[in-house]
Amino acid sequence: MAKVIIAGSGFAGHYAALILQNALKKLKEDHEITVVTRVDKFTYIPSLVWVGVGEMDVERVQFPLKPVYDRLGIKLVHGILEEVYPDNNRIGVELISGGREELSYDFLLIATGPYLNFEATEGLGPEKGYTTSICSPPHAVDSYRRYVQTIEKALKGEKVKIVVGTGHGTATCQGAAFEYICNIHNDLVDKGLRDRVELLWLSNEPKLGDFGIDGLEIKRGNKIFTSEMMIDALFYQYGIDYEIRSHVHKVDENKIYIENLDGEFKEIEYDFAMLIPPFKAQPIKFYDRDGNDITDKMCNPAGFIKVDANYGKPYEELDGPDWPRYYQNPYYENIFAAGIAFAPPGPLSKPGKSPNGTVIAPAPPRTGYTAELSGKAAALNIAEMIKGNKPSHTASMAETPGLCIASMKNGIRSGEATTIAIYPVARNYKKYPEYGRDLDMCTAEIGLAGAWFKFFLHYAFMYKLQANPGWKLIP
Ligand SMILES: Cc1cc2nc3c(=O)[nH]c(=O)nc-3n(C[C@H](O)[C@H](O)[C@H](O)COP(=O)(O)OP(=O)(O)OC[C@H]3O[C@@H](n4cnc5c(N)ncnc54)[C@H](O)[C@@H]3O)c2cc1C
Repeated sequence: MAKVIIAGSGFAGHYAALILQNALKKLKEDHEITVVTRVDKFTYIPSLVWVGVGEMDVERVQFPLKPVYDRLGIKLVHGILEEVYPDNNRIGVELISGGREELSYDFLLIATGPYLNFEATEGLGPEKGYTTSICSPPHAVDSYRRYVQTIEKALKGEKVKIVVGTGHGTATCQGAAFEYICNIHNDLVDKGLRDRVELLWLSNEPKLGDFGIDGLEIKRGNKIFTSEMMIDALFYQYGIDYEIRSHVHKVDENKIYIENLDGEFKEIEYDFAMLIPPFKAQPIKFYDRDGNDITDKMCNPAGFIKVDANYGKPYEELDGPDWPRYYQNPYYENIFAAGIAFAPPGPLSKPGKSPNGTVIAPAPPRTGYTAELSGKAAALNIAEMIKGNKPSHTASMAETPGLCIASMKNGIRSGEATTIAIYPVARNYKKYPEYGRDLDMCTAEIGLAGAWFKFFLHYAFMYKLQANPGWKLIP
């Protein structure tokens, strides 16, 4: 009997648990799957954008995991993975109910997502700073509360300024912030308040529409359009100003202090700001059999776990084949990492440095879809190894598509969303020498149909991830 531990129950870990359970139940021998997770609910994070603008109640983006796991025979440990002893195949877990537990495994999949590193920027974040976030359910609820307080001022006739974007030069997840600012714009239009609110997009992207994925190109007949043109036109239409190529040094209760790639320092006054923090890995420590701390060997400097990628290449030399395919750790073949927890080989967007030496380099997003694909590949590879085979399931970001529907306004009749498809996510110049992507497979459309699809996706994913009948048919 093999024991598999999956740490984390987000898109990567939870989906991996479902896929693995399904793969192992076909085997004659019984195997044990245990999910260790800090929060014993699944959160459909994409809909937190709507929670943050009051379009959806927070209860509708979560479901409890225990009933699902009980039905599938998966064990749930409500706790925090703190240490891994890979030579002894053991982990140390702090239980949420109190106390500690050591668990043994034959295979370990780490899918613990990001640590929201608000501490990287002075004054950033809802707890110890002045800005809000939509990265977790409580943050999104708080963001909506403060947004309402801000527009109450506008209702009284005051002019207010709302800033949305990234709170650090190395932050990622620009897509979520883009959705938020567009939803705010449309909400203000509906409330008749748009002319009293100044909206500013503040981001570390090297160009508009970069989204941390080096933007995208779309072919229309014999013309090439870029995401930069698209977002430029959209922001013009929506009346959204922008400051890009920027790092946030500090936030106080009235101002955001930024520096851009030209080395210019600016101060931005604001009434309400939702700024995505930079991500680092969850603080998990690795120890060898002699008790030596080997975290630096197992992880990159931000703590993300090394897998089968080519690490250490400069941005200019990085190409598709350098991205991981199996999500297997190079030092311990029974350890895998998926979703945001795996260490990417480098950025997707062009990194920059100001003349003052400030790094402004968006980190590569590992979106929900990428997280699911990597979690699935890791789960199927573990199943192969249990069967005595070698890992054979791949989901490289340079070989898989990126599918994203960016909500701009929720609504059956008046909704709007940008539907983006790119193939592959990470440019692969070896395969597609001109653009690094297959432009016949890249598209971006703004319209009502995308809004319907985004709404449908919320319910489709909530249904699928509760392993309801037919869940395997939903990709
Ligand atoms: C507002 C917002 C909107 C987004 N919209 C989209 C979208 O429209 N489409 C899209 O594709 N992507 C979207 N994303 C990105 C997407 O949410 C992430 O890519 C995805 O959640 C990453 O999945 P993950 O499993 O790696 O991490 P997570 O979903 O963060 O899951 C991590 C899990 O690990 C648990 N955990 C953390 N630390 C520990 C520990 N030490 N021990 C045990 N458990 C631990 C957590 O409780 C959680 O269950 C959005 C992100 C945000 C913030």
